[in-house]
Amino acid sequence: MSGIYVIGGGAAGLAAAIAAAREGADVSVIERSEKPARKILATGGGRCNFTNMRMDRDSYYDCPSEYVSAFLGVFPPESALEFFFSMGLLPVIRDGYVYPRSEEAASVRGALLAECEKRRVRIHNNTTVTGIVRTGDGFDIQTEGYTYRADRVIIAAGGKASPVFGTDGSCYGIVRSLGHHVSSLSPGLSGIVCKSPITSASGSRVTASLGLYAGERLLRITRGEIQITDYGVSGIPAMSLARIISRNKGSDLRICADFVPNLTEDEIRSVSGTRCGLSGLVPARLAAVLSQEADPAASAKNYNLIPEGTSGFDNAHVTSGGVELSETDPATFASRIVPGLFFAGEILDVDGLCGGYNLHFAWASGVMAGFSAATGRTFAGMEISDEHRALFERCEIGSRRS
Ligand SMILES: Cc1cc2nc3c(=O)[nH]c(=O)nc-3n(C[C@H](O)[C@H](O)[C@H](O)COP(=O)(O)OP(=O)(O)OC[C@H]3O[C@@H](n4cnc5c(N)ncnc54)[C@H](O)[C@@H]3O)c2cc1C
Repeated sequence: MSGIYVIGGGAAGLAAAIAAAREGADVSVIERSEKPARKILATGGGRCNFTNMRMDRDSYYDCPSEYVSAFLGVFPPESALEFFFSMGLLPVIRDGYVYPRSEEAASVRGALLAECEKRRVRIHNNTTVTGIVRTGDGFDIQTEGYTYRADRVIIAAGGKASPVFGTDGSCYGIVRSLGHHVSSLSPGLSGIVCKSPITSASGSRVTASLGLYAGERLLRITRGEIQITDYGVSGIPAMSLARIISRNKGSDLRICADFVPNLTEDEIRSVSGTRCGLSGLVPARLAAVLSQEADPAASAKNYNLIPEGTSGFDNAHVTSGGVELSETDPATFASRIVPGLFFAGEILDVDGLCGGYNLHFAWASGVMAGFSAATGRTFAGMEISDEHRALFERCEIGSRRS
């Protein structure tokens, strides 16, 4: 059977399938795992931070501004709210971070799958695509044992991050075989490996500020709850440094950790002079490590960690690098090399900050690619009524819990 075939039943693939099917196209999804969109269940610590109301060009690392403007212009965060509201899912918004109102990632996955079923999207689970060949005015999609015939193909097979969810990067070879180029790949948003005495405080969580330096040059500063692990540090502030660390190997990198960012060194000294010592300010096991230093209060404000690398693709949330953006049209996500071929999601060279930006790109690129593949036209945006906007505003309930 021909029609539109979507490779990968993850966030971007299901969004693309829904957008194409809503335009009346005959849509099939090929997914290698036994169930689609398993990764969504793990997102946002099981709550799925599916977009962010505060979004601009800087939310995506090194992505050309005309590319970001192209997708944010027609698919801003409100479009993600409308897209899910159209499937019966309401958000909860804290400090701009958007989750499903149920605070369960399963609601997001469930809404996508129910809509696919309603729109008669066929999902072939347990089917790995091993090759795609352009034939005449269509494509042969090779899988183990069967070749599917497609009129148009949307590749939404993700990257190499967290292969436990089916994303082992196997589609990069297929993309190259079609004439596309893939930029250098590295783990984005992953833990930082560093040999340091603080690893003995593994399991401790503390609000800290992390400054990443190359020599004396400050590259980036992040702040929030970090987790100390047996290999180094993790948590959003640490993970947000992974991409820069991967791409600046050999640059005399150093992370300066401030474990008590809201107190001065003198204030720490006066508090830690009491019976509790530093354990009144930071978790006891971290306090024990800091108390071994010559000046514990100074170390609490300025603790040097030497990053040896990241915790790798196995633990990364996203892949940095992917299909070269210059080879795709940012208005349609169509290939500029192969007619009838489209891309969506993490397989493209777009990676965002931690906080809903990566899933937002998956929905935006998925909807735009799906619409264009089905209609041959450029997606012009979603109409959002005043009533819906007012409803979304009422979904804002104050600060972020995590
Ligand atoms: C633990 C974790 C937490 C995260 N939390 C968040 C968050 O809260 N907010 C946020 O914005 N982002 C988050 N992310 C990132 C986000 O999940 C991804 O950026 C997003 O899922 C990418 O969507 P995608 O559809 O492009 O790829 P994926 O969701 O990775 O889907 C790709 C699909 O393609 C399938 N596939 C791969 N190769 C083949 C093949 N050869 N044949 C057939 N099928 C194939 C895979 O099995 C997979 O189902 C998180 C990631 C992880 C790992």
